[in-house]
Amino acid sequence: MSLWSETVARLDDGAALADVDQRWRAKLRTPQRVLEVAVPVRRDDGRVDVFTGWRVQHDTTRGPAIGGIRFHPELERDTLTALAATMALKTAVLDIPFGGSMGGVRCDPASLSPGELERLTRRYAFEVMALLGPDRDIPAPDVNTDGRVMGWLVDTITVANGHELNASVTGKPLAIGGTRQHAGATAAGVMMTVRNVYTQLGLPVANSRATIQGFGKVGEPLAFLLHSAGMRIVAVQDISGAIHNPVGIDVSELSAHVKEHGTISGFPLADPTEPAKLWALPAELAVPAALAGALDRDAAVSLSARVVVEAAYGPTTAAADEILAERGIIVVPDVVANAGGVVASYFEWAQNRQGFAWEQSIAADRFHRLLEQAFLAVWARSQSLNVSLRRGAFALALGRIADALDSRGLWP
Ligand code: NAD
Repeated sequence: MSLWSETVARLDDGAALADVDQRWRAKLRTPQRVLEVAVPVRRDDGRVDVFTGWRVQHDTTRGPAIGGIRFHPELERDTLTALAATMALKTAVLDIPFGGSMGGVRCDPASLSPGELERLTRRYAFEVMALLGPDRDIPAPDVNTDGRVMGWLVDTITVANGHELNASVTGKPLAIGGTRQHAGATAAGVMMTVRNVYTQLGLPVANSRATIQGFGKVGEPLAFLLHSAGMRIVAVQDISGAIHNPVGIDVSELSAHVKEHGTISGFPLADPTEPAKLWALPAELAVPAALAGALDRDAAVSLSARVVVEAAYGPTTAAADEILAERGIIVVPDVVANAGGVVASYFEWAQNRQGFAWEQSIAADRFHRLLEQAFLAVWARSQSLNVSLRRGAFALALGRIADALDSRGLWP
């Protein structure tokens, strides 16, 4: 099953749980807009290569769309559609005034020079620009994109329109209206989620063992946060392989190793282990923070952890979900667990529009409150429906989107 067909099945289930009117169910099974574009790029040697890019908006009933930009060699339209729907559900779970979107270019950024990457980003931005803007659709960083890419995006949009459109892109560098909270916000949100779910389950955070898949923009800062909270990171996996140290991996040393060598491979203070056995290694917490589908049926059968917190998008397949539910393993779904990034984007957008920077303490307080309220609302809904957190989250979000659809009605 593709991520999109799994998402549709989960949307149908959530809509049934929330008793969403039949009129809206078909609408939510279909993305509102999909723009596919050719992205011709002049290579450094003078050749021209043509890449494919997309921007997908799943739903904008609750407000302008918001969602990441991903550069990846296996990117598919359907994956982006599923991620756009996830964004619409996430903003509804958070109860913030946005819909959901996602976009990107099918390319391997590692094979592009900095100049080629900039030309690709700017041409992509230009091609999808008709859909973007502070009141239309607001991009943010995702896999293989960062503040530098967001800087090129906002510059292209601003120059092409001839006036300032700072609030049309989030995750920007500080020098052009970005915020301090954005870097690391997703990891900070995952950390809050870990604390929230441990509190509900009456589990002690200190000395609890964690396994993390992915040591990138989310996984690495998260490893530091978990370690600071007293947890032991016993296993880490990235694209190059997996490492294990039952006593706990020294996160600072691992981070320094990755800075020097690019991957975790060859890290001397842990043993290499088979990636396929990662989830079976003894731990209380499992955090997938890489790509979709990482926790499949086999992983669900062998998983040792009691709690899964989904930092990545769609890491748990539908088959795995069923097995984990049968085994009584708690899965905090992506729409809650990795919501810190979109909260930071919301705050950046709001400050850019106000033309006024909030005090750090105010932003931090609002960040904590929004995420805690969302977690508690999902927890309460799943308890009252007697379903998993994912099904409860989908029911909560779809109920809110349906309320917005009812209030607006259908035009014409
Ligand atoms: P990243 O590109 O910075 O890091 C990805 C990490 O995953 C790297 O360590 C990489 O080696 C590893 N990886 C890639 N392919 C792998 C594979 N096949 N097996 C094992 N490891 C693999 O990406 P990121 O920004 O850290 O995002 C990670 C996940 O979190 C993605 O699912 C992303 O959509 C999600 N997410 C990111 C943000 C954000 O703010 N960056 C926000 C919400 C959700």
